[in-house]
Amino acid sequence: MHYPQALSNEAHRKLIFKRTLQGMAASVGAPIGWLVIELSLGIDLYADITTNILLYLYMLFGTMIAFGTFGFYVGHQESLMQEQSLRDMLTGLYNLRHFRDRLDAQINDARRQGTPLSLIFFDLDHFKRVNDTYGHAAGDKVLVSISHTVSDALRRNELFARIGGEEFAILMPHATKEQAKLLAERLLDLTRKLATPIDADTELTVTMSLGVVELGPKDNAINLAARADEAMYQAKEAGRDQAVLG
Ligand code: GH3
Ligand code: MG
Ligand code: MG
Repeated sequence: MHYPQALSNEAHRKLIFKRTLQGMAASVGAPIGWLVIELSLGIDLYADITTNILLYLYMLFGTMIAFGTFGFYVGHQESLMQEQSLRDMLTGLYNLRHFRDRLDAQINDARRQGTPLSLIFFDLDHFKRVNDTYGHAAGDKVLVSISHTVSDALRRNELFARIGGEEFAILMPHATKEQAKLLAERLLDLTRKLATPIDADTELTVTMSLGVVELGPKDNAINLAARADEAMYQAKEAGRDQAVLG
């Protein structure tokens, strides 16, 4: 899967490393268990170790490598599942759940640091017509190509999520609503110029309506999102293919 804004690989590497170490630590169970058995049977440890040196080396390093490899595999699978749980299957963008988490966190950061935070919501125009005319699969292709085009226009710190069927959100830390409006205008332009091939001789172009808002002193996550939604609705009312500052 192509993930437009990859999660920090650093976090994944740390998790895999941690699980590998945990696996290796768990491997000490083998020599310790053997030690307990030997002591309870009254076996001469020194004589046993020197005569069975290969067995002891295996218990120390072989099990450590085996358990460590298992830990590595578990960590790898875990980070894959963690990443998938934050992603939308069709577009690879972040999903609503991750967007909500990040919105809360970003509002806290913005308040603490006294920095601006802007939010853009957008919804594709007359998308039902696209599905009705060309089919759902064609609609899906348009959703994917718009997702990739918008992703490519964003900075790394801007979070882009698919929050509904053909509704998207962009969270812009450190950006005022004027800066966010500039981005919105650029996205309108890119989308108008984007032609998505849906079969050998058909290309589709759609437009979008955007609502742009900036975090105010009294806003929380819920009413900031409601304000963005309201601004987007005004853009629809005003004729679509435009951005409205809320
Ligand atoms: P408006 O300009 O008012 O937004 O008109 P609209 O037709 O886009 O209306 P609305 O946003 O309510 O329609 C959403 C449509 O998007 C309904 C559904 O057919 C389509 N849709 C939602 N999710 C998907 C999806 O995952 N794939 C496809 N192909 N279509 C979807
Ligand atoms: Mg729509
Ligand atoms: Mg919609």
